[in-house]
Amino acid sequence: MSTDNDLQTTQYLCIGCPLGCRLEVDEDPAGDIVEIRGFSCRKGKTFAEREHTDPRRMITTTVGVTGGLWARLPVHATEEMPKHQMWDVIDLLRTVSVTAPVAMGDVVVAGILGSEVDVVASRDMPAADPAA
Ligand code: SF4
Repeated sequence: MSTDNDLQTTQYLCIGCPLGCRLEVDEDPAGDIVEIRGFSCRKGKTFAEREHTDPRRMITTTVGVTGGLWARLPVHATEEMPKHQMWDVIDLLRTVSVTAPVAMGDVVVAGILGSEVDVVASRDMPAADPAA
């Protein structure tokens, strides 16, 4: 972050594609964005605006499984969540365990952290012993 002529410049690395453009966002003392530089496409400009004002991330992780073919079930949030909540979500999901069988898309945690975002299974998880 740097300042020049009362403008505050913040740098970001665009994660929209492997090119990884280096973005700069100028903000005036009132907190308004006055210029965005460094993007090579519209997606990068949108990313910079969002990253500067309301950064969000898609959360993917795993939860424990009881009686499953494997010990961990991949899960993901159904929408991007505020970046500052990411580790709270991960910490909560560390305490969650489901019982196999689980179908892809099954809700593992509804409305996580009081939000309207569900965490769902990213794949099927068969029971270790289907006859059991
Ligand atoms: S600005 Fe566009 S081209 Fe550059 S990294 Fe982002 S998505 Fe890729």
